[in-house]
Formats: sequence, C-alpha cells, structure tokens
Amino acid sequence: MNLAVKLRRNLRRLVILLATFCMVSVIVSAYYLYTGSAQELDLTDHGVGPDCAELRVLPFRPAELKMPKPMDPSRKDPVVLVFVESQYSQLGQDIIAILESNQFRYQAEIAPGKGDIPPLTHKGRGRYALVIYENVLKYVGMDAWNRDLLDKYCVEYSVGLIAFHRASENSQPTMHLKGFPLTLQTNVPLCDCCVNPRSPLLYVTRAEVDRGPLPGDDWTVFQSNHSTYEPVLLARSRLSADDANGRMVTGLQATVVQDLGLYDGVQRVLFGQGLGYWLHRLILVDAIAYLTGKKLSRSLERYILVDIDDIFVGKKGTRMKVDDVKALLETQNMLRTQISNFTFNLGFSGKFFHTGTQEENDGDDLLLKYVNEFWWFPHMWSHMQPHLFHNESSLMEQMILNKDFALEHGIPVDMGYAVAPHHSGVYPVHMQLYEAWKRAWGIRVTSTEEYPHLKPARYRKGFIHNHIMVRCCHVRPVAYSHTPSSTRNILEAQKSWTRASKEESFS
Ligand SMILES: [Zn+2]
Repeated sequence: MNLAVKLRRNLRRLVILLATFCMVSVIVSAYYLYTGSAQELDLTDHGVGPDCAELRVLPFRPAELKMPKPMDPSRKDPVVLVFVESQYSQLGQDIIAILESNQFRYQAEIAPGKGDIPPLTHKGRGRYALVIYENVLKYVGMDAWNRDLLDKYCVEYSVGLIAFHRASENSQPTMHLKGFPLTLQTNVPLCDCCVNPRSPLLYVTRAEVDRGPLPGDDWTVFQSNHSTYEPVLLARSRLSADDANGRMVTGLQATVVQDLGLYDGVQRVLFGQGLGYWLHRLILVDAIAYLTGKKLSRSLERYILVDIDDIFVGKKGTRMKVDDVKALLETQNMLRTQISNFTFNLGFSGKFFHTGTQEENDGDDLLLKYVNEFWWFPHMWSHMQPHLFHNESSLMEQMILNKDFALEHGIPVDMGYAVAPHHSGVYPVHMQLYEAWKRAWGIRVTSTEEYPHLKPARYRKGFIHNHIMVRCCHVRPVAYSHTPSSTRNILEAQKSWTRASKEESFS
C-alpha cells in the first residue's frame, strides 16, 4: 500500500517537474524568438526613421533577401542601348541627359512597335552592357522572337535591363505585367518616400526618408509575391478609402523594384514613374552602376571649389558689412564640419577697397583681418574685362596694381589661380591674357563655363591653353542675406567644380 502511495507521489512529482520544464523551455524559446525578431527589426529600421518601419509588411514576400548573381562586366562594350518612344519624348531625353552627364556611351533607338532590335553581338562580343526602355510596355509587348533574342542576350552576356512605366489617364487602375509575376497599380498618389536599406544596388543613394508628397498623382506601384522582386524605393499611398476604382492600396508601396533575376535569369530595375522625381534620378545612376558591374559608374570622390568673386566690388549700400564677413567665416566653419578643409576662395579687385559706406569699409577691414582664413585669387584690379585690352603691357599694368595691393595687405599671391571678370578672354582665347597672367602672377589654373558652349551645361569641358589649365565651372548668382539688414548680391557668383572633364589642348 505504502509503496503504491509513494509511487503515485513520485509520479505526480515527475509530471509537475516535466510540466515545469516544458513551461520554462516555452518561455525561454519565446524570449529568444522575440529578441531575435526585435534585433532584425532594429536592423531594418536603422537610419530609415519611423516612416519606413513598415518595411516588413510590404506587399512583397517578406522573405530574407536572396543575393542576386553579381553582374559580369566582361565580354561586351560599355555602351547603353536606349529604346526611346520618340526623338522628342521627355523621359527619353531625361534618360539620355543622365547618360551624357555621366559621360557614358549610348545608342538611342526609337522603340519599334513589333520589337525589331539592332544586332546585339559582333564576333562573339556583346555590343551593349545595358538596355534601357523608356516604356516597359514596349519591352513586354515585343514579339516572341525578338523578346527571346534580347532576353537570351541578357542572360548569356550578363546584361541588365532598366524600364519605366508611366501611367496615363487611360491606364487600367490595376494591371499585370505581361509575362511577369508582377502587378501594377497605376495613378496612385504617394508621399514620404524611403529608400530600402537592404537594396543591393545602393551606391550614391543613401537609405534615408524624403518626407512630403511626391510630385504628381500618376505613380505606378509594384506588387508581387515572387522573391525575385526587391523594392528599392517605397512610398506611402495617399489613396483614400473611397478610391474611384475601389482599390485598397494602402501603406508602403514600391515605386522602384529590382528584379534579382530569380524568375528568368535577367536582372532588371523597374521604375513606376519618369525622372521628374529627384530620387528616381539618383536610383537610375545607381541602377546603371549596379547592372553594369560598376563598369558605368563614377567615383564617389568629389572635389568642390566655391569661388566668391567681386570682393570689394559693388555699389555703396550693397557691400559686405562686419556681420556679413562674420557670417561668411561661420558658414565656412559650418561647412568644415561636413567637408574637411573646406575654404572659400575669394576673388578680389583691389581698386574698390574702402569705397563703400563706413559700415562697409569696416567690413573690408574685417575681411583683411581674416585674410589667412580664406583663399584668395586675383579678379583684375578694376574689374575690367581682359579682352578689352589689346596690348599685353596695359593688361600687365592692371595685374601688377592688384598684386601690389595684395602684397600690401598680406593677401597670398602664390595660389596660381585666377578668374577673369565674366571669364572674358578665357574662351575664345585672348592670348595676351594668358601671357600676362603667367608673367604677372604665375597663373596655372583658371575656369570658364563657355567652352565649347554655355549650354547645355553637361557638354562643358575643360582644356589646356599655353600651359594654363582651364576648368569648367558652373556659375550661380547668390543673394546673401545672413541678417535682415545685411548686404545682398555680394556673393555675385558661386562656382563649383564637380568634375574636371576631358582636357583638350589648343595648338
Ligand atoms: Zn566679377
């Protein structure tokens, strides 16, 4: 009897122990599960802000990202084949402008209705490193023969494809992209665009949020359950519940998707609008870089020089005062927190020193007190345009006056850089200017925005003439108003060099 009771008690203890063990293990697993997913969420949200916190509840399969096959940049020419709608279509021109600005080679073709395409290979080598369709419907609507030819070329030569969908008033509200597991919702108004931080193609673009409504109400958003699609840009739908088409397009929607090539072996990037939105332009640059294995990409390094012309020049009442000079230095210090050693480059015309009101003359004095804080370059003694001087000796005279002024006020004279007022005499070349610059100042570098033409800006180039390097620049008039009472129009021009283009030599 005793034995039976003991046995029953032990059995009860064993059951309680087992139950407790089960409970503990459930709690422990739940804890680890929870913390694990929380960490994952943190990673997703990092740097993206609360607006992109819904990345995990996308209209996409929330699976872990499968890495696409790296693009192989070999066996083809670094040329982009662009299919435009017409010679004058806006988006086609925007795409070409981006290719030209980056100095990428391209061949533009009018996208034919049926889909005839130019020869893609020559002697076993690919002619194109990337294909861009202004209109994705032209691509999916090609006849089977040409489509097969193009897709096979893309797979065999590791060539990617970029295409755009632009909705019109006549677009169906919901449509399936022919031949792909992808649904398009058209004419969706959007706001608060965020960049998917885990998108493999990010290069120039940072994973941040651009708050506010996106331009236009004609956005196309992409939806899919296939793991080949990874959103690149996402924005919140502004479609109200009483949408005329009765659609439920809520939450974050993808306006740009990357096809990782898991569906048919071709890697693509699809845009749900044109290039009117600035982030689409950045993403296009990144997509080109990514899909060509960086063959068509530019270095991330940028050199920026900000010239401020016409120091001391200006009518009374429009010149820099003490507060303006202080603001200039403060701005430089602020920029230095972002760009190491950033220094404004001041172009001076000595003749006009102390020709303002008392307050403005005090500004001149303070500027010279800070002389070592800035860089300086000569901008002609009396702001005369050099091409008006026909003989070199009178040009020299003007330059020497400015140089004497510089020496007298401790302004450095050995920077080797000068800018002519209005870039006069730089191009078309005024030979006397180049000679006088070298003799008076030892100038080695100048700038212009005129070579070979002022417009379009993306065609501007630099060149070397008579051993002086002429770099291309962009002039922006700036109204400078740090304090309400301060002078405006003092910073007549701000110039930046983002890139020294191909240099050419005049003989
Ligand atoms: Zn000037």
